[in-house]
Amino acid sequence: MPSQRLSPDQIDLPAGWIAALVRGAKCQCPRCGEAVLFRKWLKPVDRCAHCRQDWSIQQADDFPAYIGIFVVGHLLAPVVIAMISGGISPWLTLAILLPVSVVMLIAMLQPTKGAVIGFLWWHGIGAFRQERRKPGDEA
Ligand SMILES: [Zn+2]
Repeated sequence: MPSQRLSPDQIDLPAGWIAALVRGAKCQCPRCGEAVLFRKWLKPVDRCAHCRQDWSIQQADDFPAYIGIFVVGHLLAPVVIAMISGGISPWLTLAILLPVSVVMLIAMLQPTKGAVIGFLWWHGIGAFRQERRKPGDEA
């Protein structure tokens, strides 16, 4: 394992911000795609085991949870409306959909955090330094 951060020439940088986001969503290092991004459920590794990118500086904060709430809310709102308008009592609807929404939110939190970290890294937001190659910048 190298002790120094590998240069962009030594690794396979993602082709664009969507590729960086997808690598993060797969819980892989967004920079190289060769190692895991998380050491615990929502705790990123301090440094990538392959490219040595410092992930301890990421500042995803609460944004993945906001995205999760937004997505789960929009997916379940039509279900709530359909269940209540279909004659199911509001309390039964709540009893069914509350655990469903919690499970959905928990299931999507880690990939969402990885995607947010990939997005922040690609765009050089927060403590990250933007390092993508410019077109025609081949060495
Ligand atoms: Zn890496």
